Amino acid sequence: MRCPYCRHADSRVVDSREADDGQLIRRRRSCPECGKRFTTVEEAVLAVVKRSGVTEPFSRTKIIGGVRKACQGRPVDEDSIALLAQKVEETVRAKGAAEIPSHDVGLAILGPLRDLDEVAYLRFASVYRSFDSLADFEQEIETLRAAARAREGAGQAGAAGTAGRTN
Ligand SMILES: [Zn+2]
Repeated sequence: MRCPYCRHADSRVVDSREADDGQLIRRRRSCPECGKRFTTVEEAVLAVVKRSGVTEPFSRTKIIGGVRKACQGRPVDEDSIALLAQKVEETVRAKGAAEIPSHDVGLAILGPLRDLDEVAYLRFASVYRSFDSLADFEQEIETLRAAARAREGAGQAGAAGTAGRTN
């Protein structure tokens, strides 16, 4: 790394530490030529490839914006949205790829959003999956109902088990 003071071509790392929960590495460097110190920040680049082929840096803020729009008028607080965006970032970073299609980012949003609010999920899914008919909505709602029934069934089984132990 070139020294920003004297433009000497080399510098020495004197300290490295993680920041932002390990997402960043800050390095304190020292120039052997002029002796000045400076800091560099290293961060893994995660690029999102849009359908047009254009890439842009992954942005948690953008996820929050999209999800917030889908949650308009719904009883969802900002903390839940921020947490969802964090989950999405963890999911896409866990793939370990330097580039990720925007389609996959949308996919990573759908799961946690469905758990958060089904109406917001439907709104988001209708845009993301380009629903163009009522049938698309009907199919998605049927899937949601089936998932809810499965959850209810599991809940009742659990309740029955508890009752059995009490009696
Ligand atoms: Zn220097």
